[in-house]
Amino acid sequence: MSTTSLPTIALLGTGGTIASTAPSNTALTDYSVTEGIQALLKAVPALSTLASIQCAQVFNVDSRNITNNMLLKLAARVNRLLNDDAIDGIVITHGTDTLEETAYFLNLVVKSIKPVVVVGAMRPASALSADGPLNLYNAVLLAGSPLAQGLGVLVTLNDSVHAASLVSKTHTSHVNAFSSHEQGCLGHISQGRLHLFQQPHRSHTSATPFTLKGVKTLPAVDILYDHQSAGLHLYEACIAAGTQGIVIAGTGNGSLSPQAEKGVRLARKHNIPCVRSSRTGSGIVTSSQYDARRGLIAAHALNPQKARILLALALTQTSDRATVQSYFEHY
Ligand code: ASP
Repeated sequence: MSTTSLPTIALLGTGGTIASTAPSNTALTDYSVTEGIQALLKAVPALSTLASIQCAQVFNVDSRNITNNMLLKLAARVNRLLNDDAIDGIVITHGTDTLEETAYFLNLVVKSIKPVVVVGAMRPASALSADGPLNLYNAVLLAGSPLAQGLGVLVTLNDSVHAASLVSKTHTSHVNAFSSHEQGCLGHISQGRLHLFQQPHRSHTSATPFTLKGVKTLPAVDILYDHQSAGLHLYEACIAAGTQGIVIAGTGNGSLSPQAEKGVRLARKHNIPCVRSSRTGSGIVTSSQYDARRGLIAAHALNPQKARILLALALTQTSDRATVQSYFEHY
């Protein structure tokens, strides 16, 4: 990027509330995706002071519709764009419900130090005090900043900058719905200036072994939620359906009910790896001395939805339990 000219940012639209409208400006829930990426760009004229922007619509859906195949398509597009010397950074607009899954997936498979920023909004574009326009402005500012290089995939909403590995959605409706929990966010954007105060400590992008070369589909990984009085039937159903990996949203520090333990034993007989994560929403599931004996993998800092992404990518490389466990400790 030259110091005199504006950075060139690729702006990729995928849908979500940021691209949605409702029948009235006080309706904050009953909305649908109606706006293309060009309309989002047009709604924030100040973006032209930050960057030269190239727009593309990759898909335009509520993020609950996003599939593994769509992730593969998006990642291929992102890596192609990042290989282009003319592109300085990428902004992806996305629904917030599954934003952390896409951001974390890209964080593991993007091979570049150029900034990739995933952004959404909690209020539809038609709402009073819609948060999308400022979030988008901040995302373009972040993607165009040399300070954001080499930090892995970033997420910004509500003036905060988060690492894809740490962030998750923790509120159903507030504009302050994203949190990096006790690790904290990486920085803030205020008055059009980026303030970063820490770096992500987990390895990402080029420092992971994950490439998508030759990967046509991702291994199917299911998440099973554990609870009092859980049954074995969900494990039996997953195995019968051909699952290739199971993530258990366990209680507390990833502890398992007796039926989940039986499910793990059954899965092991079919060579299906099981990851112990936690349904608590924060904290680390620490490795137990019994994990190796039981064929289990501890999710460490990853919540169940991110553990699903890492296990699916891990299974494209190896089925060795110890290697998969080390991935969970590093990424
Ligand atoms: N349902 C929306 C989505 O994830 C929620 C949002 O974007 O805030 O696409």
